[in-house]
Amino acid sequence: MYIDIHSHLNFPDYDEDRGEVIERMREKRVKTFTVGVNYRTSKKAVEITSQYSGMMRAVVGIHPIYTSDSYASKEEGSVEKFDRMAFEKLVSENRDTIVGVGECGLDYFHADEKARKAQESAFRAQIELALIHDLPLMLHIRPSGGTMDAYEDALRILKEYENRGSLRGDVHFFAGNREIAEQFLSLGFFLSFTGVVTFTHEYDEIVKLTPLERIFTETDAPYVSPTPYRGKRNEPTFVIETTRRVAELKEISVEDLTQQIEQNVEELFRVRFS
Ligand SMILES: [Zn+2]
Repeated sequence: MYIDIHSHLNFPDYDEDRGEVIERMREKRVKTFTVGVNYRTSKKAVEITSQYSGMMRAVVGIHPIYTSDSYASKEEGSVEKFDRMAFEKLVSENRDTIVGVGECGLDYFHADEKARKAQESAFRAQIELALIHDLPLMLHIRPSGGTMDAYEDALRILKEYENRGSLRGDVHFFAGNREIAEQFLSLGFFLSFTGVVTFTHEYDEIVKLTPLERIFTETDAPYVSPTPYRGKRNEPTFVIETTRRVAELKEISVEDLTQQIEQNVEELFRVRFS
């Protein structure tokens, strides 16, 4: 069994053929976590998950770029403040399908000071939500060009909550350097890698240093398809390519890696797929 730790089957990109995409997952024994980026897509993640509970679980939250209108995302009605009550209700009513909070965090790629403040407050609110419900965080962290600034700030913020409840999570689409990776690992976090590892060597060293007990593979579908699907819409079954490449880098068999990932999923998300 392969587990794609992060995808967006809740996005309109799959409205035409979602059933077929999920059928291919069934054929290839691929499971996934459907991740929300705002309230609407979080609700949708829960809806799809209830329909296909054997195939996936939901993660709900607000992506940092949707927390402020000073960011590039100006899509109509997409900007929202983190509505604590609404998410509280969503989580409480769907404890069987929702297994994490996110994707949340900091995205400094185009963010000005005002946007960064809005991101931080939404991030803190989501950390609180995760702690109250004993759920892991699915982190989205993107620094501004040529720096590690957003990673450094996220680590500083997370450390404030270190001794409160079971702070835990995964750094989705990990793109930090060695030092950042080591800091997240020592905080007990997991790192996940996308299809990017199939077409660059940029993360080889980080993949190698990440302990097997702390590693995940993911697609972030519909984005960044791995080789040989580059340029096409991504989908959870393509996690097979990324998993193969990570196994190669870790010098273990694909079977051993997928078994380890299953254990990691159980440890972090308390989920066991059958
Ligand atoms: Zn994502």
